[in-house]
Amino acid sequence: MTIETSARSLRVAVVGGGPGGLATAIALSKIPNVEVKIYEQASLLREVGAGISIGQNTWNVLELLGVADTLTSGHVIDATLNLNGKTGEEIHRQVKTVSVKRPQIRAQRTKLQSALLAHVPPRVIELSKKLTRVVDKGKEGIELHFKDGTSATADLVVGADGIRSMVRDAAWPDYEIKYTGTTIWRALLPWEDVVKQDPRFATTAWWHGPTTHVWLSPVGEGLGEIAARSWQDPAVHSADKVSWGVPVGNAYVQSHFEEYLPGIREVISWVKEGDWREFAAFAGPELSKLTAWDDKVVLVGDSSHALSGAFGSGAGFAMEDGWVLAQALRYYRNDVHRALPLFDRIRLPYYARMYAHLGEQAAQRAARLERLGDSASYDDRVRVKIITDGGKDMSWIYGNNIGKVWDEAIDALQLE
Ligand SMILES: Cc1cc2nc3c(=O)[nH]c(=O)nc-3n(C[C@H](O)[C@H](O)[C@H](O)COP(=O)(O)OP(=O)(O)OC[C@H]3O[C@@H](n4cnc5c(N)ncnc54)[C@H](O)[C@@H]3O)c2cc1C
Repeated sequence: MTIETSARSLRVAVVGGGPGGLATAIALSKIPNVEVKIYEQASLLREVGAGISIGQNTWNVLELLGVADTLTSGHVIDATLNLNGKTGEEIHRQVKTVSVKRPQIRAQRTKLQSALLAHVPPRVIELSKKLTRVVDKGKEGIELHFKDGTSATADLVVGADGIRSMVRDAAWPDYEIKYTGTTIWRALLPWEDVVKQDPRFATTAWWHGPTTHVWLSPVGEGLGEIAARSWQDPAVHSADKVSWGVPVGNAYVQSHFEEYLPGIREVISWVKEGDWREFAAFAGPELSKLTAWDDKVVLVGDSSHALSGAFGSGAGFAMEDGWVLAQALRYYRNDVHRALPLFDRIRLPYYARMYAHLGEQAAQRAARLERLGDSASYDDRVRVKIITDGGKDMSWIYGNNIGKVWDEAIDALQLE
C-alpha cells in the first residue's frame, strides 16, 4: 500500500526523549507532511548519568542534524590510558588526533541533551507522558495510552524508550533483557583538586582490577567524571539488580575498590554524599527485524539493540537510527511499507556486526583467562582484561559516516 502523501500528514509518535528520540524528532521535523510528537515519561528532561564521549561517528550525525555547532562544551581527549588500578602500571596508551575540526570529546550528558533540545521545534515534546499500553488498531493506526489517563493515535510509533522499552515489550513480547553482572556508579566532581592529587588524572583513563575498573576523565567546564564498575556473577546477583540512576551511599561504592591506589580511593571518597548514581547493566539478544506490526512500529537506539553501553557510543548509534529513519521516509515520501524495510536493510547488518564483534571479544578473553589458569596473579588477570582490540580496525564504529552509508545504500538500491 502506498500512503497518499497529499491526503494527510503521517502522524509519528516518538516514545522517549533521550538522544535517540530527540534526534529522530529533529530529523523528522525537516520532512514534508510529517507531524511528529515526542512522548516522554519524565516531568522534566534531565539526563541521568555523568559524561558522554562524542567521537567522529557521533559528530558526523550531529552535523547532519544541524546540531554540531550548538555543542560547544567538553574536554578534548588527546589520549586514553589503561592502567593497573593497584600498581599504577600503564598497560596501554592510545594517542588521539586532535588537529581535526571536531576532535573526540568527553562532555557532560546534559550538554548534549540541551544542544539537541535547542533544535526540537516548539510543541513537539510532551512531558509526563509515561506510555503504559500500545494497541494495534489495524488500518486506523496505533493507539498510545499514558499513565495520566490520556491517549493519542499515530500512524507510526518510534520506540526510542531505551533499553527497558515498553514499545519493544508490546511488539516483541518474547524479547528479554538480562542483568549482565556489571554495576556502574557514576558521579561528577570539580576536577582541579583531583588533578592535584595525581597529574595522571588529567588524562582520560581506565584504572583496572581483574573484575572492576574506575574511569576518570575531565568533562569540561572544570568538572570531571568518575564511572566505577564492578562485575559479579549474574547467576548469583541478578534478582536484586533493577537499579537505573538510583542514588547510593559513598561507603557502599568505596567498598568495591578497596585494593585500588590510595589516590583513586581518595578521589572516590570526595564524591558528595548523595551524588552517586547506580546503574545495573542489562543486555538482550539481537533482533532479526527492527520494525513490526505491519510497518507501524520501529525501534531506534537502545531499545533496538540492548548492548548495555558496549562500544561507549550508544547515543551516536541512537541518533544515526533517527536520522536514517527520517531519510528513508523522505525518500519514499512517507510510504512506511517501503521506508521501514529500507531502515532495516541499513541498520540491521550494522547491529549484527556489533553483536558478532562482542561475541568474538568475549570468547577471546575467556580463552586467554583459561590459558592463564586458576593460579594467575592479580596483575596477569588485569592484563588479560585489557584486550583493547588487538590492533583491529574499529573505524566501522568510531569513524562511521552515516551520511556516506546512506548514499551508498541508495546507490546500491538504484542498481537493483
Ligand atoms: C555506563 C554507560 C556509559 C555510556 N557511555 C556512553 C558514551 O560515552 N557515549 C555514547 O554515545 N553512549 C554511551 N552510553 C550509551 C548511551 O547512554 C545510550 O546508548 C543512549 O542514551 C541511548 O539513547 P536512547 O535515546 O536510545 O535511550 P535513552 O537515553 O535510555 O532514553 C530513553 C528515554 O525514554 C524515556 N522512556 C522510557 N520509558 C518510557 C515510557 N514508558 N514512556 C515514555 N518515555 C519513556 C526515558 O525517560 C528516556 O528519556 C553509555 C551507557 C552506559 C550505561
